[in-house]
Order: sequence, then structure tokens, then C-alpha cells
Amino acid sequence: MSLLTIEGVWKNFHGHSVLRGIDLEVQPHEVVSLIGPSGSGKSTLLRCVNLLETVDDGSIHLDGQEITDPRVDADDVRKRLGIVFQAFNLFPHMTVLDNVTLAPRQVLKTPKAQAEEEARELLARFGLAAKAGAYPDQLSGGQQQRVAVIRALAMQPRLMLLDEVTSALDPELVLDVLGIIRELKESGMTMILTTHEMSFCRDISDTVCFLDGGVLVEKGSPEKIFASPEQPRTREFLRSVL
Ligand code: ADP
Ligand code: MG
Repeated sequence: MSLLTIEGVWKNFHGHSVLRGIDLEVQPHEVVSLIGPSGSGKSTLLRCVNLLETVDDGSIHLDGQEITDPRVDADDVRKRLGIVFQAFNLFPHMTVLDNVTLAPRQVLKTPKAQAEEEARELLARFGLAAKAGAYPDQLSGGQQQRVAVIRALAMQPRLMLLDEVTSALDPELVLDVLGIIRELKESGMTMILTTHEMSFCRDISDTVCFLDGGVLVEKGSPEKIFASPEQPRTREFLRSVL
């Protein structure tokens, strides 16, 4: 069974359709990238999956449950999703350890000692063991974004949604964050990510989706999309960014 099934999803803002009948299935352990011009609807699609936006038509199922059913508790759905956005939204007044343990303690009711032990293990795994007691402004942008990924991971999500997680970073820090995403893939994490890093996208994705004007124009393996795209719009986009 698919982990996530998006069927016929439409989203309108002020009478303008920004998602126009999106269909997409994500299998367990699959890494799906969304690429496309700015404004094509990539972030809106991720926001529909985490229920920050309500869909105007169509449905989304997570683990067989229709999460777009209005009776569904959005917080309960978000517990199963790890979400990382472009801007690091770490709490500035809390240490790295407190940032990472906050949601497990408050949402999952994990006891403090256990949450801290698990957080320290994650920090060690991603090379940040020495930063547990640091505050966000004592870290580089790349380290902050790695903490944001670790914080999402601490909830043991079924699915990670990563929206342009390297866009706000200086180029020399981008590799830092791409490394952690690569490691997540190796650990079997299912992910949907949007990115402008085409070489990374090609390298990490199982499936690449090209969106334009709210339409999923073309979808396929990275080999197919990057080497022999079928649609003229995909070719044109790739020519402009590669
Ligand atoms: P992308 O992430 O591919 O750059 P977005 O999903 O952010 O694209 O945006 C798709 C379109 O939806 C854009 O035209 C954007 O201006 C519009 N849009 C996104 N969010 C809102 C909103 N909350 N209100 C009105 N328009 C929005
Ligand atoms: Mg976006």
C-alpha cells in the first residue's frame, strides 16, 4: 500500500487555481522531489499534505486514512509528519537539546530523561553531539538547519516534508544539510522534498515530479526526467536551470 496517496487535488486562492488536479503516490522509503518554477505550487502541495491548507477538491490519504476528511484531527496527522521549511524555525531562547525534545515531551508525552537520551543519540548521529547545550544563534545556518531536521526526526515521523531546506543557506553550508538528507534516505525515511539543487535532486530522488502552473506536468525517475524529458515544458525548465 502507498504511504501517501494524493488524488485529484485542487487548491484555489482568491478564485485562482494554484493546484489543478494533482495525483501522486508515495511508497514507503521512496524519495520524491518536486521541481518547477517559482509559483508552480510546490509549497502549496506540501502545505496541503500537512493540513496547513485545506484542499478545495480531491483527497489525500496517509497510511490508508483520508486526512483531508474534515473530521480528522490535524494535530494527530502532523504528529506523523516531519516538517522542515526554508527558514530555520528553532526557538531562539531554547538550547538545541530543548528544541529537539520539546515536541516528543509535549506531544508524545515521552518522559524527559528518555526524550533527552533519544535526542542526544540523534545529535551524535548527525555530528552535533557537542552542540546540545548551545543556543541557535551560536550555530551556523547549516547547523541550525540540521537541528531543525533532527527536531523533526525526533517525532519518528512516517513521512518527512522538506521545503527548500537549503535555500536560505550560504553555498558553503548547503552541503552540510544535503548530507543529512542523504543519510535520512539511506536510513529508509520516506520523503517529499522541493529543491532548487538539481544535481542533488538527481542524485537522491527515486521519483522527480515537474510542476508548472499547478499541474503535475511530468513524473519519472531522475534518469528519465533529467536525461530525456518528454514534455516540452519540462525540457524548457531544465534548460533554464541546468
Ligand atoms: P512554489 O512553492 O512552487 O514557488 P507556491 O506553492 O508557494 O509555489 O505558490 C503557488 C501559487 O499560489 C503562487 O502563485 C502563490 O502566489 C500562490 N499562493 C500561495 N499561497 C498563497 C496564499 N496563502 N494566498 C494567496 N495566494 C497564495
Ligand atoms: Mg515554495
